[in-house]
Amino acid sequence: MENSQPPLAPGLYLVATPIGNLEDITLRALRVLRSVDRIACEDTRQTQKLLNHYGIQTRTVSYHLHNEAPRAEELLADLRQGGRIALVSDAGTPCIADPGAALVQAAVAAGVAVYPIPGANAALSALTASGLNAETFVFYGFLPSKQGSRRTLLERLALEGATKEGGHGETGTHPPTLVFYETPHRIVEALADVELAFGAQRRIVVARELTKLHEEFVRGAASEVRQDFAQRPVIRGEMVLLIEGAGAAGASAAAAPAQTIGQQVAALMRESGMSEMDALKRVAKERGMGKSEAYREFQRERNKV
Ligand code: SAM
Repeated sequence: MENSQPPLAPGLYLVATPIGNLEDITLRALRVLRSVDRIACEDTRQTQKLLNHYGIQTRTVSYHLHNEAPRAEELLADLRQGGRIALVSDAGTPCIADPGAALVQAAVAAGVAVYPIPGANAALSALTASGLNAETFVFYGFLPSKQGSRRTLLERLALEGATKEGGHGETGTHPPTLVFYETPHRIVEALADVELAFGAQRRIVVARELTKLHEEFVRGAASEVRQDFAQRPVIRGEMVLLIEGAGAAGASAAAAPAQTIGQQVAALMRESGMSEMDALKRVAKERGMGKSEAYREFQRERNKV
């Protein structure tokens, strides 16, 4: 069957490779890897394991963060002369939190054909099985490793989500799910910052070791998921962190009925040990309300009881 395929056209092929399970590679990806002149790899040793598994003998060359610019020039020279080159990363889709963008941009600018060969990707795999809104989402790649920058980003996103909440209903779109990559040694700190920025009740999901033996989805309120990871003696594996959009409708919202300001404040005080005033400020921020407006509503609710 493979012999009946026409020869591969010249150009740059962006080939997605498995993110854990070696079976997660398409027939087309295997044919391309077999047929190109060279495979540019993030780590040639890592890719060699995949090539050995499928009996592919194509030559490999390294293409990673530290030689991206000179290697891109060299590969481009080949491509301009009608070469056929595949680009792969260690796992998943090249250019997605992985090297490749510089070469693609150079190829596009030089008028070289660029072919995506789709396949595994951790963010999309996590999103589709998360149970959160997968219709609209924003992917941010890795969360900043420094606590200050991470908190600033998360607080900005929490605020943006809260202030856009009204608009989503008007346009009929769902608030987007936020998707991040995170490492096992930072996940607990990151979850604490998510809880701080988005509140203890925000629904989140951590998808760990996707497509591997110990694949796991931890779903729940931010405080529950943080506690789950905080009490583990060791945390291993690769992971994707997903945060439900502010005021998201659908199954998850139905499972967790909307809370009043007073209920939200009480939950935050109970779960995070915050003072009433801090909890009220957080809730105001989450809802995109001014502090005094939130305070008045809080008092009105209290007076009704
Ligand atoms: N290009 C890849 C893709 O398409 O998903 C991502 C590469 S990025 C350098 C690696 C990060 O992706 C990991 O730190 C983790 O956050 C996420 N990741 C990769 N494989 C994963 C898996 N099997 N399960 C969960 N997350 C994974």
